[in-house]
Amino acid sequence: MPATNARPGKIVCVGRNYREHAKELGNEVPKEPLIFLKPPSSVVREGEAIVLPPASSRVEYEGEIGVVIGKTLKQVSESDAARGIRAIIAVNDVTARDLQKSDSQWTRAKGFDTFCPLGEESSKLPDLDSLTVVTRVNGVERQRGKSSEMVFSIPSLLAYISRIMTLEPGDLVATGTPSGVGPLAHGDIVEVEIPGVSRVSNPVKESR
Ligand code: MG
Repeated sequence: MPATNARPGKIVCVGRNYREHAKELGNEVPKEPLIFLKPPSSVVREGEAIVLPPASSRVEYEGEIGVVIGKTLKQVSESDAARGIRAIIAVNDVTARDLQKSDSQWTRAKGFDTFCPLGEESSKLPDLDSLTVVTRVNGVERQRGKSSEMVFSIPSLLAYISRIMTLEPGDLVATGTPSGVGPLAHGDIVEVEIPGVSRVSNPVKESR
């Protein structure tokens, strides 16, 4: 079994999976899951800095529920997908919002080094239907979402993705952010927590 702090082989992210968040950015909820990839090189862990790139003037946090894959999932049903989960972890899908708006796809906006803080895996798998994700900046709560509010549930997302690409042990699926996204500045501390399950906290720094 790979070490639980090993880098994911791939990071599949879901966009606009909470109605209120889609609305706050002026978007409709998609008819099918909207997916994109973040590079594994963007991963940082607890306490490591999120570095603001000079190319962006608006970097935002997105607290998310992350799903770590435990078994190979290829064209699976929702119930088989749920059985293939190894852990639930806190994820911050850090995004250069200005570049996301100016580019026609999101590789640059989502892919900078340090743009994917990940929490630790807990030893016990929690109930997927009663997860909460909370984001705090400098100790002030900015986002609070529940897995029960997702447009597409965790098992349905995994089943959908497994019909496109094989999900392999250690891969990560970030399941979308709730409403309340906002900017980060040099000196901030941003924390994403799934209470009782996983959390990650990171300082924000200008690049030098
Ligand atoms: Mg996101």
